[in-house]
Amino acid sequence: MQVIARPAELRSRVAQWRRAGERIAFVPTMGNLHAGHGSLVQQARRLADRVIVSIFVNPLQFGPNEDFAAYPRTPDEDRRMSESLQVDVLFLPEVEDMYPRGQASTVRVHVPGLEDILCGAFRPGHFSGVATIVAKLLNLVQPDVAVFGEKDYQQLLIIRRTAHDLSMPVQIVGAPTTREPDGLAMSSRNRYLTPAERERAPHIFQALERARMAVEAGVTDFARLEREGFSALEQAGFRPDYFAIRDAETLEAPTPQPGRRLVVLAAARIGRARLIDNVRATVPGG
Ligand code: AMP
Repeated sequence: MQVIARPAELRSRVAQWRRAGERIAFVPTMGNLHAGHGSLVQQARRLADRVIVSIFVNPLQFGPNEDFAAYPRTPDEDRRMSESLQVDVLFLPEVEDMYPRGQASTVRVHVPGLEDILCGAFRPGHFSGVATIVAKLLNLVQPDVAVFGEKDYQQLLIIRRTAHDLSMPVQIVGAPTTREPDGLAMSSRNRYLTPAERERAPHIFQALERARMAVEAGVTDFARLEREGFSALEQAGFRPDYFAIRDAETLEAPTPQPGRRLVVLAAARIGRARLIDNVRATVPGG
């Protein structure tokens, strides 16, 4: 495995592979790698000859009162894990190389309609920061395919829209959420949980699953299911931001049309952590 920090070096390595006719997959991350990232890398391996993983804690996507400084950074473990996953290149760019004129004056990507709803309503500027860094990384690496987790469902849709609307010649692949045995979605931010909070954390997945089962059993009063999910999270000791049932492709509020594909999403705070998760559901019939 080669570790590269300089964008120019990355470009010339990728150019060599291209000349040899090799197919390239890319998995962008913020590091503190866990089995969820591992499953993305394995998916990438199946789709290409070469796999590039980037680790970059992107300051542009953190709000002023968010956890940029505290975000877990575990470079030695990440390097070992990447080696064992047979990553070809681990790309570790510096902030100065990604934002040479400073963050405030960089060109930014916006995704109207998707960036201000759900998590975007609670984290102003977050998704523009994500879309901007992902667009930059995709332009640098120029992979054939890039793999993202469905765990960050809104992010996945925003990245698909960015790549499509900016005419980027890359296939965006979504990979299923990797969970702990008790259902909690794996996340670097699970590290913020105290043992007592960790015990309660699976309530998010349980509440999502209850809503999914109700939808799939034919309940069409989505507003009621959203209220019930929200209060279930409150009762479990969370401060929920939202619990929402949306169209799986547009994230708009859906009608209960038979066969319609939905996603149930939640974001909730507990202690220092803000956790997100989602599950897919299909309206029966159709
Ligand atoms: P992060 O390092 O948290 O920014 O995540 C990097 C990539 O890994 C994103 O595409 C995430 O959606 C994905 N990811 C994070 N957690 C999981 C998980 N539990 N299962 C699958 N993918 C995940």
